[in-house]
Formats: sequence, structure tokens, C-alpha cells
Amino acid sequence: MAGLEDLYREIILDHYRSPRNRGELPVPPARKLEGFNPLCGDEIVLYIDVDPAGGTVTDLRIGGQGCSISQASSSMMGAAVKGKTVAEARKLIRAFKALMSIHESRLEGEVDGDALAAELEGVRLGDLEALQGVVKFPVRIKCATLAWNTLAQGLDDAGNGDGS
Ligand code: ZN
Repeated sequence: MAGLEDLYREIILDHYRSPRNRGELPVPPARKLEGFNPLCGDEIVLYIDVDPAGGTVTDLRIGGQGCSISQASSSMMGAAVKGKTVAEARKLIRAFKALMSIHESRLEGEVDGDALAAELEGVRLGDLEALQGVVKFPVRIKCATLAWNTLAQGLDDAGNGDGS
């Protein structure tokens, strides 16, 4: 399947070279979150605007620096969740982390395909599927999940409902 791997590599490099939603947003109203992956030195600065009435991720911007996997994953994450509801964004986070963790457990010989299918049901990962090759290099999984963990943190803060 060299062809598919080449395609995935192209998608990752495209996001790395031309990251989507790069920049900053004024804080407040946006929230600023920072993530760091000490294993690799990857950093992400995420600015996220959640409309409190509609519960929608109205805008986001991404800064930071790191390896191609972390940067591509940040860019893909932003493109995937911008304009989505918080519930949809949370579902994407779960699906993406399932994609990473299922492969992780598969490496250990514990396949749970049903759990993955359940998490992925009704979720279109699109370009994100390109990152599944990362699981062959377990040390890079944290590079791929950094942006998603940071986003999850931002959505949790948003869910607290304290406007102060
Ligand atoms: Zn990295």
C-alpha cells in the first residue's frame, strides 16, 4: 500500500507547509490555551472562540511550533472543528483519539475493532485519517494528539459556564 502511504504523506506535508487558521484572536472574548509535548518539544497555542448561546466553535487560530506531525495535526484539527458545535467537536476528539489508541493497542495485540467502529460511527475524519500512519511510531502519537488534548481542555473550560 505504498500508494496510500504516499497520499497520506502528501496530506500531512500540505498541512505542515500551509497550516490552516494560523494566527491569534483577541483575548477575551477568545480563550487562549497552551499545550506542550516534552517528548518532542512540540508547542501549540490555541485561540478558540465559542459562542456561548449556540455552543458553536465560531472561530479559532493556532500558533506554536514543532515537528511536522504536531503541526499538521494542529492544522487538521482546526480545519475539522471550526464552525462545528461543541458536541460535534468533542465527538471528533473522541474519534481521533480512538483512532490513535486502537492502533496503539493493536500493536500490543489487543484489537478491539468494535470499540473503534462505535467511536467512529457517523464521524468523517477526512484528512485526519492520514495521521493513522503515525501509530507505527508510538513516540509520535503524542505529537499527533497534542492539539486535540489542548482543544479538549478549551472545550471543558467552555463547558464550565462561568462567564467571568
Ligand atoms: Zn513532535
